[in-house]
Amino acid sequence: MSGKISFFKSVENYVDKAASYTDIPKGLVEQIKACNLVLQIRFPVRVNGDFEVIEAYRVQHSHHRLPTKGGIRYAESVDQDEVMALAALMTYKCALVDVPFGGAKGGIKINPSNYTVEQLQNITRRYTTELIKKNFIGPGIDVPAPDYGTGPREMAWILDTYQAFRHGEIDSIGCVTGKPVTQNGIRGRAEATGRGVFYGLREAVSYGDDMKKLGLTPGIAGKTMVVQGLGNVGSNTALISQLEGDVKIIGVAEREGSIYDPNGIDIEKLLAFRKETGSIVGYPGSKHIGDASAALELECDILVPAALENQITAENAARIKAKIIAEAANGPVSADADPILLKKGIVIIPDFYINAGGVTVSYFEWLKNLSHHRFGRLENRFHHNQFEGLVSKIEEMTGKTVGDRERDFLTRGGTEIELVNSGLEDTMITAYQQIRETMRQHPDIHDVRTAAFVCSLKKIASDYISMGIFP
Ligand code: GLU
Repeated sequence: MSGKISFFKSVENYVDKAASYTDIPKGLVEQIKACNLVLQIRFPVRVNGDFEVIEAYRVQHSHHRLPTKGGIRYAESVDQDEVMALAALMTYKCALVDVPFGGAKGGIKINPSNYTVEQLQNITRRYTTELIKKNFIGPGIDVPAPDYGTGPREMAWILDTYQAFRHGEIDSIGCVTGKPVTQNGIRGRAEATGRGVFYGLREAVSYGDDMKKLGLTPGIAGKTMVVQGLGNVGSNTALISQLEGDVKIIGVAEREGSIYDPNGIDIEKLLAFRKETGSIVGYPGSKHIGDASAALELECDILVPAALENQITAENAARIKAKIIAEAANGPVSADADPILLKKGIVIIPDFYINAGGVTVSYFEWLKNLSHHRFGRLENRFHHNQFEGLVSKIEEMTGKTVGDRERDFLTRGGTEIELVNSGLEDTMITAYQQIRETMRQHPDIHDVRTAAFVCSLKKIASDYISMGIFP
C-alpha cells in the first residue's frame, strides 16, 4: 500500500475504471465490489507459558457463485483491509479463468517463523474450529487453500480438524484444497501457480504485434527474466520458465539481497545453494547488487515480483526498466505506481490473471474430491486398449511399424499430472485470448489490467442478471 489509499480501495478503483467501459448498471457494480461477509476473529494460544491473542480473518467477498474460494495467509502484514482486497481479487480471478467460485481469503496475523510446529498446528486447528462454528468452511460453502506462509501441511491440519467435527460427511475432503497428494490432494497443485505464470507469459509474448510495440521478438525462449521472491510461486515460475521455456534468469531477489548475472543463473543450483548457506548472496558467478528491492530495477524483458504486495510503488516505479511485469504475487504494483509504469510503456500482466494457476488446479482438486476418484482411473486402460488397436490397424494397413517411443505416446492415456497440466495450460491460454479479444473490441483500453477487469466484470454481471436479481 502506498499509504495514500487502502489496498481494498485500490481494487475498487480498478473495477470502477473497468466498469466505465461497460453498460453494467451502477448499482450492480456496487454490489459486485462489496464484500459480502467479513469474519474477524480473536483467539488465544499458549506461547511459552503465557497466552497470546491471535488476530485472524476470513472474508467472503462474493456469493454470486458458491462455494467461495481463496487461500489463507500467515503474515505480519495481515489486517482486515488486506484480506478484503485479496478476497475481492479472488472473485475477479475465478471469473476470469472460468473457475465457478466466488472469491474469499483468510489471514492470520503472525510470522510463522516465530512459532514452533506444534504452536502453528494449534493456531491452525483453532482457526479452523472458529470457521466451523461460524459456518465459514465446507465443500459447498467456503474452501480455503494455501497462500503466503502456508502450504500442504497447514491444509492437512485444516482437513483433519474439519473431519473431526463433520464425521461422516461424504464430501468433507473437498473442504480445503492444496492438500498433500497423500491426503486427497492432486498432483501438480504445489507448482500450479508458478506453472500458470509460465503458461500465461508464454502466451502473452507469443503475439508478434504486441512484442513489436515493446521492441521484442515473439517467443519466450531467450527472454531475460528477473524474479523477486523464491517462495513457492517465484521458485516454480523461475524453474519452469528456465527448463521448459529456455528463459534466461539474470536477476533474483530474496529477503537477504539481490544478485545479478547477465550470463544467466541456474535456478536449481541457486535453490540448493540457498538451502545450504541460508542465502542467495555469494552464489558463484553472481554479483551482489543490493537489498531485496535492488533487482526490481534491473534492465530485463520480464520482471516477476513474486513476493508480497506493494513492492513497486511511486517511489521506485520511475526506475523500473523491465519491458513486461508479470504480477505473480497479489498486488505487487501499488495503485500509484501503475500509471507511472504504463506511461513508460511497460506492459503489466495483472495478478488476478497471471497467478490464477493456483486456484485453477485447486478447482481440479475439488472436482477430484467430489467425484471421489482419481482422474483417468476409470478410462485410462480402456483408452489404452482402443489406441493400441488403432495403431496396430494402421501398421497392418500401411505395412510400416510405429517406433516404441511413439507407440507409447500414442497409446498411453493421460496420467493425473498430465491431465492437470494440460487443463491448466488450456485455462491460461483461453483467458489470455479473452483479454486480448476485449482489447480488440475496446481500442480505447490500453492496459491489460483494465481489459482483464472488463472480462471478469461482464461474466459476474451476467451471473447476477441471470439470477434475476438485476434487470
Ligand atoms: N492463494 C492462491 C491465490 O491467491 C490460491 C487460492 C486457491 O487455490 O483457492 O490465488
